[in-house]
Amino acid sequence: MRIGFGYDVHRLVEGRELWLGGIRIPHTHGLLGHSDADVLIHALCDALLGAANLRDIGYQFPDTAEEYRGIDSKILLRRTTDLLHAHGYRVGNVDATVCAEHPKLGPHIESMKQALAPLMDVGVDAVSLKATTTEHLGFTGREEGISAYAVALIEKTQ
Ligand code: MG
Repeated sequence: MRIGFGYDVHRLVEGRELWLGGIRIPHTHGLLGHSDADVLIHALCDALLGAANLRDIGYQFPDTAEEYRGIDSKILLRRTTDLLHAHGYRVGNVDATVCAEHPKLGPHIESMKQALAPLMDVGVDAVSLKATTTEHLGFTGREEGISAYAVALIEKTQ
């Protein structure tokens, strides 16, 4: 068994769709990034890559590569899982927290779990997602951005 940790931040801007945990969430602002800027998936990818000691999402999927412009981050999570499989690992379970003042994410948590679990080849029971505000403090509290933290446990398959 190995454990990994991931953290990511993206800026909230007008004129972008908000993609979080693999689903589109109605909101006045969206996250800015080279990909769809799904900050939760990016934190999960970094936790999984970290657990396998395979560097990070920026190393594996460079944001300078035209191939990844506007890419659906679900593809990056799928590729991360495949990379782990290629190195003899499977995903055990993941636990993540999204920090956002708005929108309220509670109603979307189950849909996110349903979207993410198959991309990691695990059941929804292995995907724990949580959301918190930061009590109006800091950049997330001022709604300048959204951050996400994730931990992942992986297991050797042989
Ligand atoms: Mg990112």
